[in-house]
Amino acid sequence: MNNIFNFCAGPAMLPHDVMLQAQKEFCNWQDNGVSVMEMSHRSPEYMAMASEAEQDLRDLMDIPDNYKVLFCHGGGRGQFSAIPFNLLGDKLEADYLLTGQWSKSATLEAKKYARITDTNIITITEQGKTSVLPCAQWPINAGAAYVHYCPNETVDGIEIFEIPETGVVPLVADMSSTILSRPIDVSKFGLIYAGAQKNIGPAGLAIVIVREDLIGHARRAIPSIFDYEIQAKSNSMYNTPPTYSWYLAGLVFKWLKAQGGLVEVEKRNIEKASLLYSFIDSSNFYENNIDKSVRSRMNIPFTLVDESLNSAFLSASKAAGLLTLKGHKSVGGMRASVYNAMPLAGVQALVKFMADFEKDNI
Ligand SMILES: *Cc1c(COP(=O)(O)O)cnc(C)c1O
Repeated sequence: MNNIFNFCAGPAMLPHDVMLQAQKEFCNWQDNGVSVMEMSHRSPEYMAMASEAEQDLRDLMDIPDNYKVLFCHGGGRGQFSAIPFNLLGDKLEADYLLTGQWSKSATLEAKKYARITDTNIITITEQGKTSVLPCAQWPINAGAAYVHYCPNETVDGIEIFEIPETGVVPLVADMSSTILSRPIDVSKFGLIYAGAQKNIGPAGLAIVIVREDLIGHARRAIPSIFDYEIQAKSNSMYNTPPTYSWYLAGLVFKWLKAQGGLVEVEKRNIEKASLLYSFIDSSNFYENNIDKSVRSRMNIPFTLVDESLNSAFLSASKAAGLLTLKGHKSVGGMRASVYNAMPLAGVQALVKFMADFEKDNI
């Protein structure tokens, strides 16, 4: 087990210590005689765990008091629909920044509900998607109900570290694959959301962090489970929440705190990503052509210069215990996802494997 490293982009590996703890209390949680997934979400024991998880997330991200934290169903894509339903208010249009696959998917979904014309779709990547325009050059529309962007494009390997200045227009961020990987200033955002299966816990759960003044303007025809006002009033228990995912997310939050919080976590993420990128850059055998200023720390795509070696690379890496390195089908090549749970030892093992594979095939 300890020699296996899972580089899957999502659902991704969870911290090993968290998995062991969940295993230990799987059938008998806190001496209740039953699993946490077999008990009422309204029991005092469950409610205490749920609010502790929220508080731990608030501590980790330093979430201001005027923001609600919601534990929702429907993953990241559920929010692609929930956001226009909740945030358009009496406006018709919203701006969507385009940087890659996920921001494109969010735009397509929002188009069903909002007026999103060519001027609202703002492409900020340059020259074959290798760099991103400086934030001051993004032509944001003053009349937009909100500006949506994706700070980490999981498929493309692009991460935007600069927070866009959008003035009074609320900024909405899909942080599915970067949340909790580094400290951020939550007060710069109107809404932050994330599907859980990259840096939080099991798939299905979505975390929504939303400024209070943006709640309560939903369209009348919104499905109730997507209505932030209803979810906020019921502490995310309007219907049965994804109880087991919430519990596991809570364990991950405690684990992150025990690591020293996000300042420490960011240091490790920088160390892991730098190790892999500097190896790739030093080699003539592997390539990553994303501009250095926007290279993702979480998802590191790379290609073999000789693509005919792809399947040999994948079978040899799998045999070496380095799993799911195949790139997304739309991009090809390879991708190593190195979320918070990936230890430095995993990246070291990958770099060693890549160096050996290069020697054997040059
Ligand atoms: C994985 C991912 C999603 C989709 O999440 P689902 O839970 O599958 O809907 C959305 N946005 C980004 C950036 C992602 O990485």
